[in-house]
Amino acid sequence: MTEIKLRGLVIKSVDIKESDRLITIYTHEMGIVNAMAKGARSFKSRKMSSTILFCYSDFVLYQKGEYYWVREAELIDSFFGLRENIERLALASYICEVLCHVGVSQAENDLLRLALNSLFAISSDKYLLKKIKAVFEIRCASIIGFMPDVLACQTCGEKAGDFYLNVMGGYVTCLNCQLRQNNNSVHEENFNESNIVCILPEGAKTAMAYAVFAPLEKIFSFNISDTDLDFFCRACEEYLLNQLERGFKSLDFYKEVSV
Ligand SMILES: [Zn+2]
Repeated sequence: MTEIKLRGLVIKSVDIKESDRLITIYTHEMGIVNAMAKGARSFKSRKMSSTILFCYSDFVLYQKGEYYWVREAELIDSFFGLRENIERLALASYICEVLCHVGVSQAENDLLRLALNSLFAISSDKYLLKKIKAVFEIRCASIIGFMPDVLACQTCGEKAGDFYLNVMGGYVTCLNCQLRQNNNSVHEENFNESNIVCILPEGAKTAMAYAVFAPLEKIFSFNISDTDLDFFCRACEEYLLNQLERGFKSLDFYKEVSV
């Protein structure tokens, strides 16, 4: 029986029978891997503490038939701090649910690093949770192939001032061009009302460009005013959910507990 060694984050965990656990691991080496951890819920098991949700661990797996089984698991980080309150836990769950949805069985290290940095930021209490959430959303969309073009107005090339984000198109338009477009489309019969547009004041647009391009290890280190942060957060969430064309239960839960 061949063994494989993988390092990854447990993004989903389902209890099976009395003592087993089926886990989904987002690994550096192979992307999404599902594995059965036999006896993982027995308190005598060393697998107990390293196969639960949000654990970043080294795994030794073996393949039997179609499935992977956990032979050994050694904990690297449990992100203990994110279990300290329900709001942090809800945001971490949302991040993992998004990964479960967008992840594939192929290495995508930037996405895993983004998730790990986000969980670390949540547990360390250094940044506002809504800021971490928004940065995760827009960078995640960018990594999986929906990078928005937020550097300059798509129509005239203007780089400064207040903007609008065209959520479905993935581009920004300056105030003047947006007003002109609105006037034109009122007279057009094919005016598309489902076109979603988010206001992006200059500070929010700068933040979005930063979150899309900054090195992952510095991705949360930027300043933004409270007002701009609200616009930034709304735009990032709209953008990811619309690109993925779905909502998430864990996001609804996060919103319930974070008000
Ligand atoms: Zn313009």
